[in-house]
Amino acid sequence: MSTKLVPSLCPYCAVGCGYYLILERGKAVGVEYMKDHPASEGALCPKGNAVLEILNNGDRLKYPLKRRGDEYMRISWEEALDLAAEGLARNARVNGPRSLGFLASSRCNNEENYLLQKLARLLGSPNIDNCARLCHSPTVVGLGAVLGTGAMTNNLADLKNSGCIFAIGTNFAEAHPVVSRWVQRAKERGAKVIVADPRITSTSWMADLHLRIKPGTDIDLLRGMMKVIVDEGLADDKFIKGRTEGFEELQASLRGYSLEKAATLTGVPAGDIARAARIYARSPASSLLYCMGITQHVCGTDNVKTCATLALIAGQMGRPGAGVWPMRGQNNVQGNCDMGGMAEFYPGYRRSSEPESVEFFKAAWEAEDLPLGPGLTSTEMTEAALEGKIKAMYIIGEDPVTCDANINKTKAALESLDFLIVQEIFMTATARMADLVLPAAAWAEKDGSYTSMERRVQWIYRAVPPVGEAKEGLWIINEIGKRMGIDLKGDSADQVLKEINRTVPQYGGMTRERISKRGGLLWPCPEEGHPGTEILHRDRFSTPGGRANIASVENRPPAEETSPEYPIILSTGRIVVHYNSGSMTRRSPSLLDRDPELYVEINPEDAARLLICEGDMVKVETIRGQAGARARVTEKVLPGMAFMPFHWQAANVITSDALDPVAKIPEYKMAACRISVKS
Ligand code: SF4
Repeated sequence: MSTKLVPSLCPYCAVGCGYYLILERGKAVGVEYMKDHPASEGALCPKGNAVLEILNNGDRLKYPLKRRGDEYMRISWEEALDLAAEGLARNARVNGPRSLGFLASSRCNNEENYLLQKLARLLGSPNIDNCARLCHSPTVVGLGAVLGTGAMTNNLADLKNSGCIFAIGTNFAEAHPVVSRWVQRAKERGAKVIVADPRITSTSWMADLHLRIKPGTDIDLLRGMMKVIVDEGLADDKFIKGRTEGFEELQASLRGYSLEKAATLTGVPAGDIARAARIYARSPASSLLYCMGITQHVCGTDNVKTCATLALIAGQMGRPGAGVWPMRGQNNVQGNCDMGGMAEFYPGYRRSSEPESVEFFKAAWEAEDLPLGPGLTSTEMTEAALEGKIKAMYIIGEDPVTCDANINKTKAALESLDFLIVQEIFMTATARMADLVLPAAAWAEKDGSYTSMERRVQWIYRAVPPVGEAKEGLWIINEIGKRMGIDLKGDSADQVLKEINRTVPQYGGMTRERISKRGGLLWPCPEEGHPGTEILHRDRFSTPGGRANIASVENRPPAEETSPEYPIILSTGRIVVHYNSGSMTRRSPSLLDRDPELYVEINPEDAARLLICEGDMVKVETIRGQAGARARVTEKVLPGMAFMPFHWQAANVITSDALDPVAKIPEYKMAACRISVKS
């Protein structure tokens, strides 16, 4: 029997691990490790090892479906595409094009996302967004403001060159497991690992120093470290003078601050804060890793800016082993943002609110008119739908009814729509609310490029045909466009990539041939022959003046504080065997076996007071609703704190939808709750 190996990429997190699909008689039957992949070197975490359980899953959507009452009936593609086009056109005509909302998918490839935002904008709607709004929009706008580019500064393998790895608000050992290999490699070479996290996690077990900060005090911790660095002469004066702006303001703002104050506010002993600062600043090269523990706050943008500022004043930037590593979420969330799947940006981070951006794309797309932004973010679209301003939505590969904060509000918003299209590989909670469900090809069933958290752009070829009558997203979007009189020029992923080469400067030299090679290329890669960029900001920052903007910000309280009624702070996060909404991992038997139900971690002190025992079913309540979960009584969480994984819908019934005013990300990490035994 002939066996074929086809290179592919993991469809889960943004590490972008590579592997081979083993094909027999045209069917994917196994996974073979790809030992020469630059980010993963043959490693895969439990999710990556279980990808076939998703690709070959019997629950895959196979036919277009139309709602009739509470039922769905199978229809032809002709009817489905006509319905999609009619529904969007009707609402654009009756309510205006700005009544249309679009969600691009960070699980879909660059070409599909490029085409969807092009369709939205050519229809006259600026309202295009993606799930980065819920995880790393503060990275895009916060790092963008400080460094000029809202992306990871160095590649993952470069972590091995760090003498100090400072991880704040990231449990990468579970959320991005393969990153641990590079951290471990650095440790073997003598690196010190510092972890700031209120919880004891698989990541904190790797730490030489674990700073158990009180939830929501990240800026205080970072300012405490900066105070030590400035007062003890550990700041990199040459770097600050030569490459940054705004240090004097930071110095002034730190004058009234003290290490003792930072210790009181964060709950971390002053000596530990000082030790962390000294190790970080004195190391020849220090890396700073962060994730949603930093971003998912009402001060998420300020948190990100302060992380970057710490790196700048210590001169830990623009060299091997030195930089800032935001741990992005979904496999193509970086690419989705690059492609303009964000309310604030046309492709290539051209601001959608600037007339020059509109003029550029009018010329590129031969369009008479395009909307000036910013459009509504996904969180704003929910509000706008409730106000009757958004009337129709086209959602591809996203499940807001599971992932949004305060999802009862999201459900009410989607119920209020005149027309909802969901394009998916499974019948998700959001798809169940749609008027029209379009079955999409999964990652290994189509051609296209993906951009990992490293800015690594990699092309994968279709390995197997789509299941049933499922179709490639590109074909679906293109066909809907045609029925609305719009030629999107999206007949193939190759054709769309060529357009991306012309319109997205960072991707100018990324031809299919080049990014099909092992490991692809890291952007910016502005022209053919350019080798790509492993480390950003070596000589200049990508701000207009080339200098980084040091941020002087003070902490702000969370939107929700504890009260006698709701005395515990609830935080949410990822666990190793599940991913985001769980729409894939909860259908993967080997993963579900390991963690089959929603649980909540409670400190033994709180559990004793509340008469809760290990394994009890409990009720976790916030002002928005309640969720049932299995109690895990553990010192992993501090007294007064609880933690839930967010891969079950019930968790987001209760999370807080208070928004960061700049990035518009909800404050998932801080909800005041009460917990009781379920009667
Ligand atoms: Fe997939 Fe991320 Fe696991 Fe790698 S680390 S196998 S990309 S989920």
